[in-house]
Amino acid sequence: MKFDAWYTEPQTENLSLSTKIKDILYVGKSEYQEIQVIDTYEYGKTLILENTYQTTERDEFIYHELISHPALFTHGNPKNVLVIGGGDGGTVREVLKHETVESVDFVELDGMVIEACKKYMPTLSCKIDDEKVNVIVTDGIKYVADVAKTAKRYDVIIVDCPDPVGPAAGLFEMEFYNNLYKCLTDDGVMVQQTESPLLHETLISKIKGHLKDAGFGFIRPMVCSIPTYPSGFWSFTLASKQNSPLETNSDEIVAKMEKYGMETKYYDEEVHKGVFLATPKYLK
Ligand code: SAM
Repeated sequence: MKFDAWYTEPQTENLSLSTKIKDILYVGKSEYQEIQVIDTYEYGKTLILENTYQTTERDEFIYHELISHPALFTHGNPKNVLVIGGGDGGTVREVLKHETVESVDFVELDGMVIEACKKYMPTLSCKIDDEKVNVIVTDGIKYVADVAKTAKRYDVIIVDCPDPVGPAAGLFEMEFYNNLYKCLTDDGVMVQQTESPLLHETLISKIKGHLKDAGFGFIRPMVCSIPTYPSGFWSFTLASKQNSPLETNSDEIVAKMEKYGMETKYYDEEVHKGVFLATPKYLK
């Protein structure tokens, strides 16, 4: 079907972002959310959940590289990784670029998102069926609560979640961070997408407080520009039990990237350093 129409996401009460639609590829409704995949002129194929841009072919590399590589290189030798959310598969694709990674538990609430992305967004979902990936379709909040009671531990946990509403709301609450802490090894590192530093400073502060109360020793925001998210200015928060991202040696990152044959479009050793050192003053 061809359309001469625009898709508009109301991003706040007073702000919206529109993109001209080339094609509507998929419309579905799961028990959790409305799912759409559209093709657009500026941003290519775009996943929309509950009328909210989740990821687009054009700018996804910024998000997926930054949510993955700084945390994985900060750990230094990640073997067991947990990805919560991220149904499009972009984060799993990046995690698998690290040769040390032996297993990725990919915990996504909604199997329909995974299936839609496998069919319509293969540049993101291309590694979901890799033999190192265990796809677990369940609620990430319940999953970490259950794992926390066992001896299973992860080196790195990546929370690739949507906005803190509906089933994702609990992914921003104290109980979740307490369980994340328990699910990590003693040198474990976690990272989460933490919304816009321009529109959601109170939330970012709240998350930092929760991470501190959960016991994390090092907590640092990382900011970048992602044009399709509200305000175009976005944040991730990295927290580690021991390792400081600032201690990660640039030469080591260069050597590992070469050894792994890692191809990236955004991340390199300079971005790694800059993203932690150059925290905007007001966010500090
Ligand atoms: N990059 C995106 C963003 O910032 O909006 C996140 C994209 S990814 C598609 C978000 C995924 O998290 C969705 O597929 C959604 O189904 C999943 N999700 C929401 N709540 C969840 C929960 N409680 N446990 C696991 N996955 C969840």
